[in-house]
Amino acid sequence: MEALSPSPWTENQALEWDGLLLSRGTLLGWMGAVIPGAVSDPYDPTPVPYLTAPPTDPRLNQERDLLPQTRQALHSALDGTGIRWFITQGISQDPLSAGTHRPDGRSLSGSYYSAVADISIAGLTTKVPRHRCTPSQARAGKCLTPAQEQQFHRVLRRLRDAGFAAWYRHFYDRRRGIWENEIHAIDPAAPFIKASLRRQMDDYLRGRDGLVGHTTRDAAGPIYPNRAAFCRRAALSASIKGYRPFRSDCIRYQSATKSRYCGR
Ligand SMILES: [Zn+2]
Repeated sequence: MEALSPSPWTENQALEWDGLLLSRGTLLGWMGAVIPGAVSDPYDPTPVPYLTAPPTDPRLNQERDLLPQTRQALHSALDGTGIRWFITQGISQDPLSAGTHRPDGRSLSGSYYSAVADISIAGLTTKVPRHRCTPSQARAGKCLTPAQEQQFHRVLRRLRDAGFAAWYRHFYDRRRGIWENEIHAIDPAAPFIKASLRRQMDDYLRGRDGLVGHTTRDAAGPIYPNRAAFCRRAALSASIKGYRPFRSDCIRYQSATKSRYCGR
């Protein structure tokens, strides 16, 4: 298909879908320092930039941006691994995310949720990916080792087996001049999901990367979706009540025109 570079998770492609740079007017510095004069956001009362380390301030815990059902599924999938994971980005309206991390719905009491979470592993978020690692960086301990990278692979497999549409991605943050490693995971059980995320889930079920090139590899290699687990989890969405769509394009995955992969 498309004549793409051998590295399909290049920063340019990635940033079109899923940015991580600080937005203008961001309230908080990346380790939690409050920046004076920042503006508040109506659906993200304490906007948090992409986190590169687990937050020590509970106000920065991005789990608050997820459905209780999503949080529970993430914990039950990952807590037994012994790997210290955290949410790097929940709701975000960074323009470089192309809207994928904007809210999908809100509860009747008014709290917003995102159906997608970016997940990272403590201590490994900003290591240089192995395919970009120079010998001197490796000697300085700045690169992911094979054993460290394997932790992302294990988390990815757990998430797919729990029914999430998930990919392992590397991003280059140009503003900070560092690489960032994450897993972008969409919960198909969410009662309302925006069109861009539904397209990414379709891509996942076809074994594609959910980015503009729709390639068959992510940073973990060839993409192997767990379709049965995904469809079982997507079917749960009908039982999650008490939410409204954030916008009119936010609908249940299995109600969507393109949701042919799990049947109707
Ligand atoms: Zn993401």
